[in-house]
Amino acid sequence: TWAWLLLAFVALILPLVLFSAWSYRRSLESDRDRSLVEAVQLSQTAAAVVQGLLRGLDGTTLAMSGALGAQVGVLNDATVRPYLASVGPRYPFVRNIFLMDPAGLAVAATLDESLGRDFGDRPYTRALLSGEELVLSDLLQSALTGEPTIVMARTVRSPDGALRGMLAVVFYPARLAEILPQSLPDDAVLSLFDQQGRLIYSSARPDLPWEQREHSTLPEVQAALAGQTIMARRGVLAVDGPDRIGAVAPVPESGWAVGVSRSAATVERPLQTLYRQQMLALGVVAASSFVVALILSRVLSSPLVRLATHARAFGRGEVGTLAPVAGPVEVQTLAEALTTMAAEVQTRFAEREAAQRRLLFLGEASTVLAATLDYQTTLAQVARLTVPELGDWCTVHMAEDGGQVTRTALAAVNQEQEALLQQLRRRYPFDPRGPHPVARVLRTGEPLFFPEVSDALFAGFAQDEEQARTLATLIASYMVVPLIARGQTLGVIAIAWSRPGRRYGLADLALAQELARRAALAVDTARLYAQARDALRDRESALAARDQFLSVASHELRTPLTALKSYMELARNRLRRGAAPEELDQLLAWGDVQAERLNELVSALLDVSRIATGRLELETEPVAIAPLVQRVVEMERAADPGRAIYCSLPTARPVLDADAGRLEQVLVNLLENARKYSPPNRPVEVCLSATDDTVAIAVRDHGIGIPLDDQERLFERFYRAGNIDKGVSGLGLGLHVANEIVRAHGGTLAVASTPGCGSVFTISLPRPSNAMAASRDERVAD
Ligand code: ADP
Repeated sequence: TWAWLLLAFVALILPLVLFSAWSYRRSLESDRDRSLVEAVQLSQTAAAVVQGLLRGLDGTTLAMSGALGAQVGVLNDATVRPYLASVGPRYPFVRNIFLMDPAGLAVAATLDESLGRDFGDRPYTRALLSGEELVLSDLLQSALTGEPTIVMARTVRSPDGALRGMLAVVFYPARLAEILPQSLPDDAVLSLFDQQGRLIYSSARPDLPWEQREHSTLPEVQAALAGQTIMARRGVLAVDGPDRIGAVAPVPESGWAVGVSRSAATVERPLQTLYRQQMLALGVVAASSFVVALILSRVLSSPLVRLATHARAFGRGEVGTLAPVAGPVEVQTLAEALTTMAAEVQTRFAEREAAQRRLLFLGEASTVLAATLDYQTTLAQVARLTVPELGDWCTVHMAEDGGQVTRTALAAVNQEQEALLQQLRRRYPFDPRGPHPVARVLRTGEPLFFPEVSDALFAGFAQDEEQARTLATLIASYMVVPLIARGQTLGVIAIAWSRPGRRYGLADLALAQELARRAALAVDTARLYAQARDALRDRESALAARDQFLSVASHELRTPLTALKSYMELARNRLRRGAAPEELDQLLAWGDVQAERLNELVSALLDVSRIATGRLELETEPVAIAPLVQRVVEMERAADPGRAIYCSLPTARPVLDADAGRLEQVLVNLLENARKYSPPNRPVEVCLSATDDTVAIAVRDHGIGIPLDDQERLFERFYRAGNIDKGVSGLGLGLHVANEIVRAHGGTLAVASTPGCGSVFTISLPRPSNAMAASRDERVAD
């Protein structure tokens, strides 16, 4: 990041630096230009001053030469010097004024050394002698001292024009400079050139050796000498060195030139300093802003990096809490957003986990529910599965046939709770019509949901204070859901957390309902299965009974038929040989018995068929029971003369509305069975008894008896007990028909038997309980 920051920074700073450099160069240029203009002005001012000086000198010498030319008498040192000496001090740069005779010999001078010396060969003398009136010499070497010198010389003529002498004013260029403008900048160098381009004076190097004064080759000097004011840019003006700038101006009339130059460095220095300061400031600002930016970026980026680390962790699913992040408001906002996001993610994770757990739970429940077709086991497993996954305890109540409700299953997270729940059940019987939530759900088929319970809730259905108190320790959050299959409420599952703080949500309710739905399906399936299994068993036994009946029936029917046939055969043989009618009579009587037997069998089959199709009809009339019993007993005694058949009748003579023939049939059947299933030497007892509301006829034998298992099914069609001698004929229909007849009379046929000891069959018939019936008894009895 910091590399990018640097790059951005450079990109921002670079144009600024370039612009500064450009503007610096521009300022430099304009500064130089201004300096050049200044230099031009300065040089021109200096030139004007020099010109003024020379003019003044010109005027002075003119006046002096006039004065001297007109002087009467000899011109010698004694006569002239005072005059000369009076003029000299007016010009501080003048070193010497002397007067030469026309031959060039100095006759008077302000300096003694020059007195008497011959200046005839000096260039200015020669110029005067050759006809010039006024000469301003070029730079000369002083004849006296060898120093650079300038001489202004003029002829001195008498008023008639005869040459009387020559006046020479010698001055030092260096002194000349002293009267030049003082307002030059400190670093300015003033240079004065003679007509030959020799350096008369340089303020920088007043003591320049003679040999170094030649500057006539410099173009700007040449140009100035030619009358042009010239600017000398840096590197061009070589007078005072190449690193200077300035100007050279001509001094009119004299043919001289004045140059003013300044060191370029000095001119540029303030600007350079300014530029350097600017650059320094820029650098400092840049560096400090870079540092600030770096710190800011650190301050910004380090929390951002932390946030990014957290975000990555969230991405990997490592959800934790985000420590508070110190940083700018935006970062804090981001951190808060991230925290919110993390919390969201955590919730989602938790929800997903919960959903997965629920799915797993349901899957497990389905497996358990599918494992058995015994619904009691199924419900017990549902309860066990629910604890502790969905609750601390769970009960299952099932509605039984007949409106009863039983608690079928119970599971609790620990034994104390289980004991408490058992105790509650024992002490407070469940009322299906009461306000208990389980009863309410059973009645309505709608679930009840109590995420949080209150004392008021328990008070609403508890039977006393103590039950309410116990319930409060058992229930903190409570759900009661119905077991519904095919639109029927089969039962109810109640689930509760007893731990305070645990609380059901709607998702839990949905899960419980789904569990109940599956359990109800499983229970329904198990019940259907049991029904189907029973039906199948019934069908199988019916089929077996039918097969047995067919074989027995064919055997039973064939026996009398075979006998009948053989009697007829015998009768035919006896007829053929002309036997006596008595002999035939006996055979026909036997045949009659067999036919009667056949008739009985067919009647029994017809009766069974009538019973099966509901067409057993009774022809009721008031029947006196005692004579009926008496009659049957007599009949049986006649049929089995060797057997003792006792008959006990009450003193009261009951009369019932009944079908006499059918009742007789029942009694005959019971008596025949008693004889059939007991040895011939054992007695059979018939006992008629009557109470106010019942008439009972009991038939007791002392025979083989009936095994307990068979007693239950004795009245089924074709059923025969397992202990009978196979040789004993029978269809297993007699008791079935007898039972149906008794039931049709509104009575019951009951059996009591001890295998090996004998059996008692009791017909109970209800008596009409009104006075009419009682009086009728009497009447019929009479
Ligand atoms: P059947 O006598 O023709 O077999 P029933 O319907 O009269 O048919 O009797 C059914 C069965 O009940 C008999 O096969 C027998 O096993 C049993 N049973 C009936 N009466 C007696 C009895 N008095 N003692 C022992 N078993 C009896």
